[in-house]
Amino acid sequence: MTAVHDAAMAFLEEPEPPRGVPLNVLPGIRRVVAENPGVMTYHGTNTYLIDEPDGVTVIDPGPDSDKHVQDLLAAVAGRPIKRQVLTHTHGDHCGAVPALSEATGAPVYGYRYSAHPGLRPDFPLDDGSRVGGLTALHTPGHAADHLCYEYYAENGQKVLFSGDHVMPWSSSIVSPPDGDMLEYYRSLERLLARDDDVYLSAHGPLLAEPRKLVADLLAHRQYRERTIMAELARQDWSVAALAARLYHKADPFLQGAAQRNVLAHLLKLKAEGVAEEHAPEAEPPAETLALLKSLSGVDMESGGEIPSFYSDSMRRFGLRPAA
Ligand SMILES: [Zn+2]
Repeated sequence: MTAVHDAAMAFLEEPEPPRGVPLNVLPGIRRVVAENPGVMTYHGTNTYLIDEPDGVTVIDPGPDSDKHVQDLLAAVAGRPIKRQVLTHTHGDHCGAVPALSEATGAPVYGYRYSAHPGLRPDFPLDDGSRVGGLTALHTPGHAADHLCYEYYAENGQKVLFSGDHVMPWSSSIVSPPDGDMLEYYRSLERLLARDDDVYLSAHGPLLAEPRKLVADLLAHRQYRERTIMAELARQDWSVAALAARLYHKADPFLQGAAQRNVLAHLLKLKAEGVAEEHAPEAEPPAETLALLKSLSGVDMESGGEIPSFYSDSMRRFGLRPAA
């Protein structure tokens, strides 16, 4: 899952790709786009298939869909799937793991602390771990268990599988407590210091010259943070009211995602001693109730429902007085 689109950013778009069939990305690397398009997933989750000497490595098996698993099995055309590697454990990335495990017996690799209660990797990874030709980088922020993977393609290009941490089509949702804005900043800064040629994200097309977008994403969050501080300097705000002031999303998912991002910014400012949290508002504003109604029963983050969405919307923050 993913995204809060913002027109001010230089995001890439791509025409709707064919789904369910392998598409060439780089020599030795193909992707199969799952049939789960949406405002949070763009055209659908990309499942990458990497041809390695001993068989195929699958990055992010994708959503819980029998058809997608059948499409993956057809795409590898009899070559053995040797391993399933996860960027993180949101449902649109790992939902297909049980069915693909059953069909192939391929072991699962993911961060050593899975954020998904029902999913424990067979082989826990840490920052720097190697799996097949991949090297893991722990990049928390969008998700606490998020890993990017460095890989050298057959044509020599230095590739980073960037998961949902950096996507070419949209910024990422940072939804506390699993999402953490301070860590998200640090993980972006970490990518800025690297020299990858291309990013292959879990949603959207190949991203060339990726550091430009990373710098933009960071600058955009810093701008957003300054806007929030300016609003806090005028008055205290509840999460819902501040999100309504700063974002005007017609789509209820996106307005809900905006609330999660605003909360993440406020908690970062609190952790840095800039903001403080006050007693929550007694009841949420009417627009939050309307939002909840349209979101109820739906996984907002496709990793699962956010049980604290309602109470978080009433949390109230102000600037911490200078000592
Ligand atoms: Zn995600």
